[in-house]
Amino acid sequence: MKSIYESLVWNEVRITSHAASQYIPLKYGEVGTAGTRVTLIAGTHGDEGPWSALAIKMLCQHPVAQLRGRLRVIFTANALAAEVERRNSWIDSPNPIDLDGVFPGNKDGSHTDRLAATIAPLIADSDAVIDLHGGGTWCVNAFVKRFEGSEQLAADLGAPFISNAPNKRGGLTTYARSLGIKVANVEVGGRSSKEMYWTERNVQGLERALFNLGALALEAPPAPAKEAVDVGATEAVRARVGGIFVPTLREDAVGTIVPIDTEMGKILDLHTLAELQVFTAPYEQTAMMLLRPQICTIEGSALVYVIAQPV
Ligand SMILES: [Zn+2]
Repeated sequence: MKSIYESLVWNEVRITSHAASQYIPLKYGEVGTAGTRVTLIAGTHGDEGPWSALAIKMLCQHPVAQLRGRLRVIFTANALAAEVERRNSWIDSPNPIDLDGVFPGNKDGSHTDRLAATIAPLIADSDAVIDLHGGGTWCVNAFVKRFEGSEQLAADLGAPFISNAPNKRGGLTTYARSLGIKVANVEVGGRSSKEMYWTERNVQGLERALFNLGALALEAPPAPAKEAVDVGATEAVRARVGGIFVPTLREDAVGTIVPIDTEMGKILDLHTLAELQVFTAPYEQTAMMLLRPQICTIEGSALVYVIAQPV
């Protein structure tokens, strides 16, 4: 029996980019014609893409006979950013453009504007959109952003933490929501020795979500999601100064709550290794939503943690 993946019909749109090669393709697969229209998209940020793309591909191993809706998959939304493992592509000038900040795009703009304008109709033609980000090359994370009217979808995705989504101007999810589409933003996983644990957890979350959307039939209903912890406003913690970052909390800490004053990590002077900044947990219960699990050199102002308090 054919799988969903084997049944995908591939489409290609050519988007103007390089002077030399003229265009970069955006490829997306579709299967099914009737029922709930679900779009799964990964890699709008190029450094966060492959983990989520793999989760979608693993979901697509279900027999196509189980599909009840129309599924559209975009594994790599921002190919030029993905090839250099960066959030944004290098091609737009004078400044890099965040693909997840220019929806619904501009077909006469630079490459990333045109890319958004190409993806926008694929989003608009959906009943539900799951926008998979994640940690990635430099961080791991463990939360889902919840949108009003799509609370069940956010819960089904099964992340340790759920936060209310801010209204990101030009965001893909903001655009989808403005059209009345059910939407969630997954920020789970990233490069670490546990990357397949989080990828498989995302697969289970997607199965649960598609089942409850009526888009996927399963022999038995999927196990309910583990109780997620609801958190309040999220806080981005940045480096005051550049230097060598040495994490105290490692990848096992993401998705957990640590007590106040827990040492999270520190920054050492690049030249003398003197201690320049120590990060400690500021709340009685500090939810570790995003962290850098590995030693690295960072610039001042670089994002190091995203934390919040349970509500
Ligand atoms: Zn992202």
